[in-house]
Amino acid sequence: MPLLCSVKIHRANYDLILKTLAAYPAKLVAVSKTQPIESIREMYVLGQREFGENYVQEMTEKYSVLPKDINWHFIGHLQSNKVKYIAPYCGLIHGIDSGRILKEVNKQARKNERLQDCLLQIHIAKEESKFGFSFDEAKNLLLGNELKALESVRVLGFMGMASNTDDPQKIRKEFESLRMFKESVQKATLPSNCKLEELSMGMSGDYQIALDEGSTLVRIGTALFGERNYPTV
Ligand SMILES: *Cc1c(COP(=O)(O)O)cnc(C)c1O
Repeated sequence: MPLLCSVKIHRANYDLILKTLAAYPAKLVAVSKTQPIESIREMYVLGQREFGENYVQEMTEKYSVLPKDINWHFIGHLQSNKVKYIAPYCGLIHGIDSGRILKEVNKQARKNERLQDCLLQIHIAKEESKFGFSFDEAKNLLLGNELKALESVRVLGFMGMASNTDDPQKIRKEFESLRMFKESVQKATLPSNCKLEELSMGMSGDYQIALDEGSTLVRIGTALFGERNYPTV
């Protein structure tokens, strides 16, 4: 008897999201945190190559067993002592939220003889205590002398998470504020290791708004994989 593999991913949503994205200059990062290897494989077979994870150990385990042409996005809060585990292979780190962590990423990238692409996480959800730089802090980091010296990192843009609210106007304003920030910083003379091309905004519940506000990377988990398998920490 053939072994029937149960379908784990939401195929119809995947197709719909790709169809939606085709009208924008944006890519899908499939957020596979807490999801099993088989679900990632299923999506890989459909052609998906960009996957996002929040936990260093989990991402590294998945990296070690899955095909090497997957581009791994680290989207969680990164601790300095764990950078070394993802430095050999991580494609894009979305959650740089301090100068200190950027320095450590630079150090580990140099050790691995890699150029590590990063995004600065900006705190755009005003009322929520989330990680991230304020606009001023991010601007100071990009335009000061600090970034120039970090030759093994490249800052490609910004990441932001909107408030967890049902009010689409509020979400739109927060995403819009990040797009406008990017546009204003782009006018300045930036160091050569800073190319502001990416805006990582939008999750399962708000990606359409994010796309309309200029997102280039949507990070979608639940809509593709269903509810997560264990509580996030
Ligand atoms: C979990 C997570 C996502 C995906 O959220 P969904 O609502 O499941 O699409 C996106 N971005 C970050 C930073 C996350 O931690």
